[in-house]
Amino acid sequence: MLNIRTYPDPILHKVAKPVKEVTKDIVKLMDDMAETMYADAGVGLAAPQAGIGLRVIVIDIGTETPAGGKRSNLLQLANPAIISSGGEIEWEEGCLSIPEFRIKMKRREKIVVRALDKKGKTVEIFAEGLLSVAFQHEIDHLNGKLLIDLVSKKEQDKYLKLIKKTSIL
Ligand code: ZN
Repeated sequence: MLNIRTYPDPILHKVAKPVKEVTKDIVKLMDDMAETMYADAGVGLAAPQAGIGLRVIVIDIGTETPAGGKRSNLLQLANPAIISSGGEIEWEEGCLSIPEFRIKMKRREKIVVRALDKKGKTVEIFAEGLLSVAFQHEIDHLNGKLLIDLVSKKEQDKYLKLIKKTSIL
């Protein structure tokens, strides 16, 4: 299990480095990230959120069954890049690294992502709706971009005060 870094940890604003090869260590990282994402009930996680500056993401937008069954659309990818996109969609997003913070975002509605899978094979994935939003959110993390960067300094300070207050409890 990995520790999730939270805002304003500086690693979250760094641009992550490409993975040269999907080694055993990278596969292990992908599995640890999936475990962490499930434990925190997120739909996605990027390596910088675990303090690791590599272009690795995991996503699972599959829904849990009422009986508490496992989600099953797990994607574990390295070096994801958007190679085409179209349309526009608005979505209210949150982030495991910015607890309690939500913001409405405009994203591309449909995208095609090229990446390396767990076997190191190049794959192309078509995504729309929530999956498209999740990809764009996680790729933003790899580029050091956070949802909270989009609001004013005043709002950011307000958020930090709020978090400080709640973490004392
Ligand atoms: Zn996030």
